[in-house]
Amino acid sequence: MKLRQYERPESNCTSYTFDRREFLKTGALASLGVGLLSVAGEVGAAINSTPPRVRRYVPLGSTGLKISDISFGSSRLRSGQEDLVRRAFDLGINYFDSASDYTDGEAESTIGSALRDKRDKVVLTSKMFAYPTTTQQEMMLTLEGSLKRLQTDHVDIFFNHAVNEVERLKNPEWYAFVDKAKGQGKVKFTGMSGHAGNLGECLDYAIDSGHYDVILAAHNFGQDPSFFKRFFRDYDFIAVQPQLPRILAKAKSKGMGTVVMKTLMGARLNDMRPYEKGGATFSQAAFRWVLSNSNVDALIVTMTSPDLIDEYLGASGWRTAAAGDIPLLRRYLALNSASHCRNGCKACEESCPSGVPISQVLRTRMYARDYGDFELARREYKLLPVDASACLSCAATPCKGACPIGLETGEIMAPLHRKLTEV
Ligand code: SF4
Ligand code: SF4
Repeated sequence: MKLRQYERPESNCTSYTFDRREFLKTGALASLGVGLLSVAGEVGAAINSTPPRVRRYVPLGSTGLKISDISFGSSRLRSGQEDLVRRAFDLGINYFDSASDYTDGEAESTIGSALRDKRDKVVLTSKMFAYPTTTQQEMMLTLEGSLKRLQTDHVDIFFNHAVNEVERLKNPEWYAFVDKAKGQGKVKFTGMSGHAGNLGECLDYAIDSGHYDVILAAHNFGQDPSFFKRFFRDYDFIAVQPQLPRILAKAKSKGMGTVVMKTLMGARLNDMRPYEKGGATFSQAAFRWVLSNSNVDALIVTMTSPDLIDEYLGASGWRTAAAGDIPLLRRYLALNSASHCRNGCKACEESCPSGVPISQVLRTRMYARDYGDFELARREYKLLPVDASACLSCAATPCKGACPIGLETGEIMAPLHRKLTEV
């Protein structure tokens, strides 16, 4: 299906005033930290600006970097897609997120070759899995591999990647490595990225340690499954990730940069095409939801086609919901809520006697089922420290019924493991 081209965000004073009035009436602003004060001007600029391009650059904490509010994720970027990267750059995107393991290094190589003559105009990041036993020499080798592929002598931010155990943040080798890499000018800033069951605990540890400059966290409207019911009443996050707003605010108060990902809650975009009316698309609505939180600096999203870049940038510059956003997000939840494992939730994991990291396993399922990228799913599954092989011999499936949103993990896990590991 051809994806929808950019359409001018539908926002007029009447609809915006309505949303804002309802927000204010409920006290929602205070709990969310929604930044609405200068919205009228920004939206005014946004709707007058075509074709799509980045309309807002955001200071990334106290790093001194200024990055595009909607930025380039490369987890599915392949060799030969240099034009896609250059298109993103030409439309104003200046922050390119990558990782040493993305597409077996092809993502970094493609970014490197596409932006080689633009290094001073872009913020390049990479990530690696630093485990509790990884040595600083191994970390340095991984970093140097990334630098080579990115064709640069430094990355602006180097993340400890997909952290889900605090033990990974306690490895003194990481800090020795960071000191050395910074001293050699190979890394400017460091960060922690995460999107699984222990996200809150890990982020709290990283922030409190004072050793990190930036956090990259999964964050989307679906982390509160019934957010729409409360939208005009009490906007709390009692659901699967109640601590994330607090954590984002804490990071912000300490001058850290805050970037979010997994903002599309599975990105089942084509499911939503029939319901997108009046200019707003689902992805734009979902982006506006996270960007309306003043404790979020920017978001990254995997960009796989020029059409998608155009569509995504339609939400750049916005800092509040537009008319039509909430019904769209609500519709998405109605269609997908009962089948989508929430990022950062682990309510089911205590029921598993084998310690299967269910939320991490189901993240890889999302890549296959929602993104349609089976290869990515298999690759990410292989990287998990513990997989779901125990499910093959788990007849009693004590995890059954443990998921508050009704995911039947007892039925999903064993077939999923077989699918992701078959040769
Ligand atoms: S099926 Fe059994 S082993 Fe697998 S996650 Fe559920 S309880 Fe754990
Ligand atoms: S399966 Fe349900 S309980 Fe388990 S991590 Fe996912 S959303 Fe949370």
